[in-house]
Amino acid sequence: MKKNSKRVFAILIIFTLNVSQGCFTQTSNNMSYEDQRKEMVLTQIKMRGVDDEKVTDAMLEVPRHEFVIDQYKGHAYDDSPLPIGYEQTISQPYIVAYMTEKLDLSRKDRVLEIGTGSGYQAAVLAKLCDSVFTIEIIEPLGVRAMETFAKLDYNNIYTRIGDGHKGWPEKAPFDAIIVTCAPTDIPKPLEKQLAEGGRMIIPVGERWTQKLYLLRKEKGKLKQKAVLPVQFVPMIDEEGKTY
Ligand code: SAH
Repeated sequence: MKKNSKRVFAILIIFTLNVSQGCFTQTSNNMSYEDQRKEMVLTQIKMRGVDDEKVTDAMLEVPRHEFVIDQYKGHAYDDSPLPIGYEQTISQPYIVAYMTEKLDLSRKDRVLEIGTGSGYQAAVLAKLCDSVFTIEIIEPLGVRAMETFAKLDYNNIYTRIGDGHKGWPEKAPFDAIIVTCAPTDIPKPLEKQLAEGGRMIIPVGERWTQKLYLLRKEKGKLKQKAVLPVQFVPMIDEEGKTY
């Protein structure tokens, strides 16, 4: 019994030390957000092979810390995903850059995103294309993302609360579709809503064994290849059941 209470005490001290050393505060180092962003783009993105300048410029521009909850602002430019509440995460910067590059966007493209989350991925896409249509199933997350888009003056992002498995048929077809939650099969409505010549990037699989697939629609048929092993949160329906 005594031993146990000592252990609890020790854990508490470690936790307190972590907090006071800034692990959970806004000042994990002294660099400005802009400098942290430059370092992120160089060491986490370019050095790992994402070198499309349009994509790296967009990642330099978008203030990732504005999409991160207060508790984690000091970690906004870390090489990792971060919690955003409601058991969801903002993706690791490298994954955002990698998926964006694979979509091979041009200025006139209209893009559909499933899984708005923090809104960060949508904001990066919005720098590179005509318009982004993004769907989030957890209402408070979608609302928070809309507020962030408004605060930062994004006027080419359209957000909807609902089940993205169905896509956004009224706005289809899309030149590119990006899915940031994982179903176990590629949703048929999304295949249908992809334009001829369009690209889709989507994680598919069970919780711990997902692969990222890149698809392209050519002459009405989808060509697909697996490009990376990944771990995304599952795609869920309105009852919270996984697809
Ligand atoms: N792109 C996000 C990362 C989102 S994490 C960002 O940049 O921050 C995946 C998100 O997908 C979560 O917010 C989750 O709620 C959402 N999601 C899961 N199933 C969904 C569905 N069927 N339709 C829309 N969003 C869904």
